[in-house]
Amino acid sequence: MDKQNYSRTLMTLTPSNYYDIKTDWQYMSPTWFKKFLACEAEAIAELKQSWKPENDPTALVVGNWLHSFFESEAAHERFVSEHPEAISSRGTTKGRLKKAFKVAENMIDTLDNDDMFKKFYQGDKEVIVTGKIGGYLWKGKIDCLNLERGYFADLKTTADIYKGYYNAETHKYDKSFVYEYNYQLQMAVYQELIKQQFGINCKPYIVAVSKQAEPDKQVIDLPEYRLTNAMNQVLEAQEHIQRVITGEDKPTRCEHCDYCRSTKCLDNVISADDLIA
Ligand SMILES: [Zn+2]
Repeated sequence: MDKQNYSRTLMTLTPSNYYDIKTDWQYMSPTWFKKFLACEAEAIAELKQSWKPENDPTALVVGNWLHSFFESEAAHERFVSEHPEAISSRGTTKGRLKKAFKVAENMIDTLDNDDMFKKFYQGDKEVIVTGKIGGYLWKGKIDCLNLERGYFADLKTTADIYKGYYNAETHKYDKSFVYEYNYQLQMAVYQELIKQQFGINCKPYIVAVSKQAEPDKQVIDLPEYRLTNAMNQVLEAQEHIQRVITGEDKPTRCEHCDYCRSTKCLDNVISADDLIA
């Protein structure tokens, strides 16, 4: 066990510590699990805070801008006041929202002006859930949970709802953004945690909204077999991932991500015929 990062007492999750990396040592989450599935070496380095992945900070703020709006008025006001970088401070656009945030406002408007969405997106917002899956602690945060009507919803922003991603099995661009980002894994875990915490089996929905100048929107549900397969993937992969976290197993390097390239040492020669797998 990594003593520096390991706390003996189990932390109770609250809105203020939910994203604290200390809690990620105690509770697995769909986000971290997917990081480990992508590259164990990078994920453990990030968990130990010895590596920080390059990601687009604006994209994260834009996503949270939208989420905070549908959480509550107070949450959105607080979020906007904490992000003055959304407003242009120079040139002819001074004082106005920057382009990426204007898109976020359009995304908010398209949902906020939609009757079906307004009736559907009712329930408790940003609900923290915890439980055990296969003996390990997990955490989740539900965007919108409606226990009375037996469903929950997760807001997803995406470039284009109908964009096809490369599918290694079919060698075609026929994979939807839902499966490309393994959102079925998140939905399966959330469904299980809600069931454990509240005793109700809720149906998961994704509310997708696109980042196009004129945003598209769609409520999406998941075929049962996708949820079952996702839960099986969790159960099969998590033992080893947990052993990587405790230091009992060596992390596997993917050899293709930024982290693996940044730490690569030449130790072999390969044929030009074998460069492309
Ligand atoms: Zn890697």
